[in-house]
Amino acid sequence: MQLSARISRISLGVACLATAFAGALVSTSSSADATTASTGDVPTFREFEASTYVDVDGAYVVNGDEALATKAELKKFYDRMVSTPDTRNDGLIVNTVGGVDDKWSASQALNLTYCVSTRFGTRHDDIVAAMAAGAGLWEGATSKVNFVYVPAQDAKCTTRNNSILFSVEPVSTTQYIARSFFPSTPKRSRNVLVDDSIWTSGIWEPGDILGHELGHVLGFRHEHTRPEAGTCFEDNNWRPLTPYDAASIMHYPQCNGSSADLEFQASDAAGVRALYGA
Ligand SMILES: [Zn+2]
Repeated sequence: MQLSARISRISLGVACLATAFAGALVSTSSSADATTASTGDVPTFREFEASTYVDVDGAYVVNGDEALATKAELKKFYDRMVSTPDTRNDGLIVNTVGGVDDKWSASQALNLTYCVSTRFGTRHDDIVAAMAAGAGLWEGATSKVNFVYVPAQDAKCTTRNNSILFSVEPVSTTQYIARSFFPSTPKRSRNVLVDDSIWTSGIWEPGDILGHELGHVLGFRHEHTRPEAGTCFEDNNWRPLTPYDAASIMHYPQCNGSSADLEFQASDAAGVRALYGA
């Protein structure tokens, strides 16, 4: 219904590398005010830091919905971004840190425990269901990945709870619908934050939105950073697992995607099997 208007609003909010580093890619509002560089020049670190959204937990949010815990990590991220890009022509790509795949160990991948904060209130059970749906997309593709919901930890569901690998918590922001983390993210920033707009995101179903975020949790990058997308480039710190797929659940529709609805694809299934096994 209001999807086309919404998509164009999102498109306005997309800030890709060519114009600025910080962008609210999964967002219901324009991030133009959150970015300062408009000339196409590479911003200084100071400018980059000033334009980067800082979350409730003090984490820096980059690439739309990915958290960095500290200023030092933001600096490393910036340094990687401004380093001379190499070209890779080879639907799923895994994040790399120092050239090494950013993934969970085989045993940890089978026990990705999480809680869902009771602070979601009347929406708590809906989030539990959407998380199960999102996790099920990846779990259905491989027997080597298993997300484990631990409801006993819901009442104290924060990054400080060491009984779970990560927490799912509510947030109130206009910067994104939800944001996530990578396997290399330190425990203190390992949470999936979800804004209420997840319930009013048109044909982006809550389970698919959280499926996208859980893709990051597994180590997958935005598919649209690949050169084939022709837009929304982020950086080259990734390794291809499958051929490019413009319809991947990790590809934002508004970044020249071929699918508007953020559905899980066969290429996503092939990618998770390529990284973790079948
Ligand atoms: Zn994302």
